[in-house]
Amino acid sequence: MSSSRRSFLRLSAVVLPFSRISDLFAKSAINKPVVISTWDSGQIANGAAWPVLEKGGKALDAVEQAAIAIENDINCCVGLGGNPDRDGHVTLDACIMDEKANCGSVAFLERIKHPVSVARKLMETTPHVFLAGVGAQQFALANGFKLEPDKLSPDAEKSYKQWLIKAEYKPVINIEHQQSHPKGHGPFAPARLEDGSFNHDTMGTLALDAKGDLSGMCTTSGMGFKMRGRVGDSPIIGAGLFVDNEIGAATSSGQGEEVIRVCGTHLVVEFMRSGLSPEEACKKAVERIVKPNPERAKTFQVGFIAINKQGEVGAYSVQKGFNYTVTEQGGKGKVINAKSYFA
Ligand code: ASP
Repeated sequence: MSSSRRSFLRLSAVVLPFSRISDLFAKSAINKPVVISTWDSGQIANGAAWPVLEKGGKALDAVEQAAIAIENDINCCVGLGGNPDRDGHVTLDACIMDEKANCGSVAFLERIKHPVSVARKLMETTPHVFLAGVGAQQFALANGFKLEPDKLSPDAEKSYKQWLIKAEYKPVINIEHQQSHPKGHGPFAPARLEDGSFNHDTMGTLALDAKGDLSGMCTTSGMGFKMRGRVGDSPIIGAGLFVDNEIGAATSSGQGEEVIRVCGTHLVVEFMRSGLSPEEACKKAVERIVKPNPERAKTFQVGFIAINKQGEVGAYSVQKGFNYTVTEQGGKGKVINAKSYFA
């Protein structure tokens, strides 16, 4: 050790107050790279994101790889393998956001395998941030994405046939639609499954890269057996996903309508801006959702995950049963059960 460095250390030990020294340690304790995804299927997403981050790649590329992996997995829940709408068609919603507040979203997109990549293309090659339906599909085809067959995965086919037996929606308020569908379709798919658990699976991934930049993505086939044309929170910037490179990022899974009502992920990031940890920020946003109608909140699930600029992560959900996957040094994904408002 050089004599000047030795004397600096001696000086800092004597002169710097304890709080300043711990500040220096806190700054060097930034945890990066790190990637976090909703649910235990986040292991697939993080598994694809990690090699990008490990090599020093960009968080944006990492989260896109996460989406591609999960959308490719026909046994999973999102992408073209997901559950269809009530008319039997899979419709996809997705978005992506980077460290410069660039963002792209697609909604009600049919027969395209990788909606997040279409969203990224939109973000990078046009002045727009959001395309829906036929226009989104036209844009995808014009940019070399392939039109896939309008066919359900074997699992989705089975669930759809099962759902058709009762074709039940709660609450049933759409009289007109109900009359043309004698089995009683209302606007919402049942949130709760027969075993009491909740039927949600949206994949959201947030990454902090080696450079310290944040990006995120959110991809879903939406709520199973939804009304045709229904769009949830997942493609909406500030609802299903929000990234602020100065502060942190958040994404969500669960009943999209409830997340949209409070601009959920924007709220989580704003709570982190006010000094809360990622878990505390997610908890506050959940409380904001529950507060106006705690009785109603017993009937749905929403889960948030978040990461801050220091690479700290956290989550919170309305009901128990929500989990998330974290991958950091070592590259092995760890599944963590989120705390919840209702036990
Ligand atoms: N958030 C999704 C939506 O509302 C659904 C889900 O997470 O399963 O479309």
